[in-house]
Amino acid sequence: AKLDGRNGVQFYAPHMNAQASDRLALESALRRALHEQQFTLHFQPQIDLATGRVVGTEALIRWRHPLLGTIQPERFIGLAEETGLIVPIGAWVLQTACLQNRQWQRSGLGPLRIAVNLSARQLAEPGLLDSVERVLQDTGLPPASLEIELTESMMMGDIESAIHTMACFKRMGVKLSIDDFGTGYSSLQYLKRLPVDVLKIDRSFVQDMVGSADGAALVDAIISLAHGLRMHVIAEGVETIAQLDFLRGAGCDSVQGHVYSRPQTGERIEVLLRAGH
Ligand code: C2E
Ligand code: CA
Ligand code: CA
Ligand code: CA
Repeated sequence: AKLDGRNGVQFYAPHMNAQASDRLALESALRRALHEQQFTLHFQPQIDLATGRVVGTEALIRWRHPLLGTIQPERFIGLAEETGLIVPIGAWVLQTACLQNRQWQRSGLGPLRIAVNLSARQLAEPGLLDSVERVLQDTGLPPASLEIELTESMMMGDIESAIHTMACFKRMGVKLSIDDFGTGYSSLQYLKRLPVDVLKIDRSFVQDMVGSADGAALVDAIISLAHGLRMHVIAEGVETIAQLDFLRGAGCDSVQGHVYSRPQTGERIEVLLRAGH
């Protein structure tokens, strides 16, 4: 499917190749999506391995296009970053996620945490700290219930300014995590300087871990490293019971993945939480 036709976003011109015109169509559709509220959030539970309880959820954006149906973030986040549209989109995500989490907390569903993905572009925005502070005030969400996910590669641009921003978040009481850990190029020198609370082991490691001695050794090492730095460890993309068992044995703190639940609408998450999970 293509983003053109009836929605009025067709930009064919003889000098453009198909890719460039697709891009333009996508960009204008993204702008429209923001104005017409086509974005929605899904939430994926994070389970504490010691208690078996849901301790939080990660907010993941979805785009419900009127003609194309649901579009996954991998197809539009990149362009949203390049065009800067990720800044208003990210602000919407933050506000919506915090509000949802506050509602769950108010209805007695526990001291849940909400994890929100931040993009490099947002991290570099001068107004970021103020806007997070404002969202916390507006929604009444306790700062410690918000966790901001950053990736190693995001910090490579200007590491000093990234560390400064992270320190400000810490002072605010907001939690920080490193997403997709092990897939970027940051050095261990940086890792010890980053004021993060949580390290998320990337799905690629989890996939390689069972049945491969090397894969298992890597996951063991990452968990020891994180605990040595007093970080909590969440394994991502956990799909099988065998993986779950391995992670429990390795001392991993929490898991997130299809073995427990796919990302779901807020309504479904609420049902799941009420059922006492
Ligand atoms: P991520 O932050 O690493 O999110 C985890 C991705 O893994 C999600 O894909 C989730 O649906 C998927 N996943 C979860 N459990 C499993 C599993 O057991 N197996 C497999 N194969 N996959 C699993 P999703 O929702 O398509 O998001 C893709 C990426 O898009 C995210 O990767 C994140 O980088 C980005 N993204 C999503 N929402 C946002 C957002 O609000 N803001 C920004 N800046 N980026 C976002
Ligand atoms: Ca993430
Ligand atoms: Ca991830
Ligand atoms: Ca990812």
